[in-house]
Amino acid sequence: MKADLHIHTTASDGTMSPQEVVCCAREVGLSHIAITDHDTVNGLLALREMGELEKKGLIIIPGIEFSADLPGYEVHILGYNFDYSHPALRERLREITADRDKRARQMVDKMTELGYHVAFDRVIELAKGADSIGRPHIARALIEKGYFKNYHEVFQCLLDKGKPAYIPHYRMSPDEIIQLVERIGGVPVLAHPGLIGNDDIVNMLIQKGVQGLEVYHPKHDIGDTSRYLRLARQYHLLISGGSDFHGISGRYPENLGVFTVSAELAVNICYNKMNYFT
Ligand code: AMP
Ligand code: ZN
Ligand code: FE
Ligand code: FE
Repeated sequence: MKADLHIHTTASDGTMSPQEVVCCAREVGLSHIAITDHDTVNGLLALREMGELEKKGLIIIPGIEFSADLPGYEVHILGYNFDYSHPALRERLREITADRDKRARQMVDKMTELGYHVAFDRVIELAKGADSIGRPHIARALIEKGYFKNYHEVFQCLLDKGKPAYIPHYRMSPDEIIQLVERIGGVPVLAHPGLIGNDDIVNMLIQKGVQGLEVYHPKHDIGDTSRYLRLARQYHLLISGGSDFHGISGRYPENLGVFTVSAELAVNICYNKMNYFT
């Protein structure tokens, strides 16, 4: 049995809707998936509304991906198997997504100053109802207008950290993310530790209380995977993994079911804490 514990949908910067993701996951024979959108649980709410969470054959684990405030580093923390209706979570997410909206408007204004004319309304249209607006949505509008050929070019020229149109979005501290995820009954897991580029930070986050490491990730090489597997075993942490699927052409993996992990990892995460499947 295969699982994928890191999937983005149109609720944030993925291109497939939550329902399309679920449909596709069934088609490719996954037994467990986690929807882990950036700063939103709207995908999970939509699936609950459609009755998808109770259907047999595919277990959908509630998830989320937060970006932590740690100057100089890009640190992402995943939350799994939590009460996604919890008022404390909903309140915090409202603040963060409102800030993302404001920041996207500011980035579009910067683009205009730089001579790239995209309409904020078009960015929102292309975001297909996303609750959490991110840089990839702005990139889509720039590509559509013919300014750039692909995401890579847009980020390299304008949107990567340090480039002229980059503006950071509001982030919680690692402590606050860990506390919030635990408060709502979930498990905090450090996402793609290899992308942080500094294992002292990884060790610091383990000391702060992340309960798992995303050992398996498409951007980890064999060295990263074996190092984080060792670290997870040393500190008795949960081992996680997933494809970080966005459904974007040119970004590996382009399809679900291509990068998977053993379903045993999903089961371990689910039974570590109370279940909140529905
Ligand atoms: P944001 O959360 O708005 O800052 O945007 C971050 C998202 O942009 C990431 O989750 C990726 O999906 C995407 N991203 C970041 N850097 C790049 C890049 N160099 N090329 C393509 N996509 C990127
Ligand atoms: Zn993303
Ligand atoms: Fe990430
Ligand atoms: Fe991600």
